[in-house]
Amino acid sequence: MTERVKELLEDFRNKRWEKIYTPYERLFELTRNGDELVDFLESYLKTFKETSTYFDDALSYIDAKQFSKLIQIAIKILQKEENENAENVIAYASLQFPELLNEYLHLIFELEPNTYTYYAQYPWRKCNSRSIQIFKKKLINPELSQYDKERLFKCLLETRDLETINFAYNFATEDKLIDNEAMLTLYLERVGFTIQNNTIKTYCPNQLYHLLFPKNYFPNDQPISINKEQHPTWNLTPTSKKYKFGGILSDDEKNPFFHIFTLDNIPDGLNITELNVLVLGAHLRELNECEAIFYQHNTEGKPSKIQSTDDDIEVYYDNPIKETYISCAVTPERWKFQDWGISNSRENLFRLGGEPTWIQNAEVLKCPICNEKMDFLMQLDSDLPTIQNGELMFGSGGICYVFWCNTSKVSGYTIQCT
Ligand SMILES: [Zn+2]
Repeated sequence: MTERVKELLEDFRNKRWEKIYTPYERLFELTRNGDELVDFLESYLKTFKETSTYFDDALSYIDAKQFSKLIQIAIKILQKEENENAENVIAYASLQFPELLNEYLHLIFELEPNTYTYYAQYPWRKCNSRSIQIFKKKLINPELSQYDKERLFKCLLETRDLETINFAYNFATEDKLIDNEAMLTLYLERVGFTIQNNTIKTYCPNQLYHLLFPKNYFPNDQPISINKEQHPTWNLTPTSKKYKFGGILSDDEKNPFFHIFTLDNIPDGLNITELNVLVLGAHLRELNECEAIFYQHNTEGKPSKIQSTDDDIEVYYDNPIKETYISCAVTPERWKFQDWGISNSRENLFRLGGEPTWIQNAEVLKCPICNEKMDFLMQLDSDLPTIQNGELMFGSGGICYVFWCNTSKVSGYTIQCT
């Protein structure tokens, strides 16, 4: 262990907050040398029980091999006692490296880390087919308690394997485990699936990209831990194509039509066909006051609002997004699963394709033209700079979700926040 790792641990141990006046700067120094960082994390995990965002944040900077070492230690600790940091290792691993949890799933089911959280079953996201068979058998065992049935049902959904999801869904219906269709749909929509004409289908594109913004686009007044530059998801490798982002589609003093993003070269895998260009824009001021807004796109990809415009926007005065050019990065495997709560304002949640990071219950929009469930297209996080140098907030600082119906060429927008 190097001197600076020892010193940082000592300072944490003795709560010498006056000496760790720049704890993040010192922690991120260690990220330049993965071995030092994992030494720090290992000792931290073995020494401290209470959660710490320093510990959680540092997990984003170690590699798979180092993560698997921490998982092993965390499981050993949890077999002996409760420990919040060990639980967090499991939670973060279930997003960043769920495949590393495969060999521990049976133990995790017994130990129940994070049991009172919505992410208790996240570890099953990359459950292999051998384990799936074992958990399926377990679910239909008549001696299983109601409590374990409910947990296993959620575990099987988390696998995101269509056949397994059908199995779990049919079991839940026949067994009356969940005796409410709306509730069942909600469970499905949490893991990227929905029901259309009595058939379970995914509503999420396979392909996922992260949006990348130019340096200094976001104001530079945030602490290093949340500055929209530090976390690896802000530093992915962009493709060469640039896209026009922000500005105004048509001005209206009370309810401007914000331009979001022009896809003049539509990336692969987003379920958009027959269009060469897709212009995304929305009346975001109005969206803050209603549940959803929909737009029909013409053959040039340009949107026009489906409902009549609400001229009476009273509360919200958001200004259009500051214009810029952005690029897209094909998202590496590690960052495909993200979670709004767990990301803790550190991560880039500007995502095109993939699954949405829901803040509240999942709510897949229905197309107002054909009445079918729409596909997820993209999401925007809060804090985008506006043309007036303010910050665009969705509700109290939530996320704007964009959906797409390729049959009707309709886009739909909705917002969630805490
Ligand atoms: Zn439609």
